[in-house]
Amino acid sequence: MAPPAQAARVFVITGPSGVGKGTLIGLLRERIPELALSVSATTRAPRAGERDGVDYWFLGDDDFADRVESGDFAEWAEYSGRRYGTLKSELARHTAEGRPVVLEIEVQGARQIRESLPGAVQIFISPPSEDALRKRLTGRGTDEPAEVERRLQVATDELAAAGEFEHRVVNDDLAAAVSALERIVTGTLTA
Ligand code: ADP
Ligand code: 5GP
Repeated sequence: MAPPAQAARVFVITGPSGVGKGTLIGLLRERIPELALSVSATTRAPRAGERDGVDYWFLGDDDFADRVESGDFAEWAEYSGRRYGTLKSELARHTAEGRPVVLEIEVQGARQIRESLPGAVQIFISPPSEDALRKRLTGRGTDEPAEVERRLQVATDELAAAGEFEHRVVNDDLAAAVSALERIVTGTLTA
């Protein structure tokens, strides 16, 4: 008899904006190609080069609100005046294929997943310092100075929440941080 399909696993990667979540997940997925990425929905405008259905599902305010009303989200949160959420359909799509899936979300959403999917593995990414976080957010060049300041303000509260998370990785040396993430993910998948 064929062995049962391996249970799909959900990995939540959270931490403040600019800490390097997207960069780390990109490198992690090169090392673990079966790991699928959940494409989030958002009401914020696309940045230059961002594509609908690849970087995000870009939704209008009314469309997002309708989907909240319909119970389409596994979690959602307001962040810096915009809404962001994980569609249940994204999770279902990957788990139906038996693939482990990674969510890149902010802290409020991670808390919701902790309640609704207690089996999900949660990893908090910290910067080496608040100064390094500021430099990364500024250096990325995607946000106006006022938006960088708003994100840094939110980051103060987010960093204070690090202790809530099962796993914590400091993203100082990038290669070391990717390896730490890889150990957590492969350790879980092979357990
Ligand atoms: P997030 O997805 O958490 O908002 P990004 O992945 O966009 O963060 O990274 C923010 C910026 O920091 C990018 O310009 C990225 O190249 C840079 N970065 C990521 N990791 C490191 C690191 N370990 N050291 C220095 N810069 C980094
Ligand atoms: P950005 O505007 O930089 O793409 O994202 C802003 C913040 O929203 C980041 O911290 C990012 O991780 C978070 N985020 C992205 N997608 C989701 C999501 O689906 N749900 C939640 N709660 N946060 C998200």
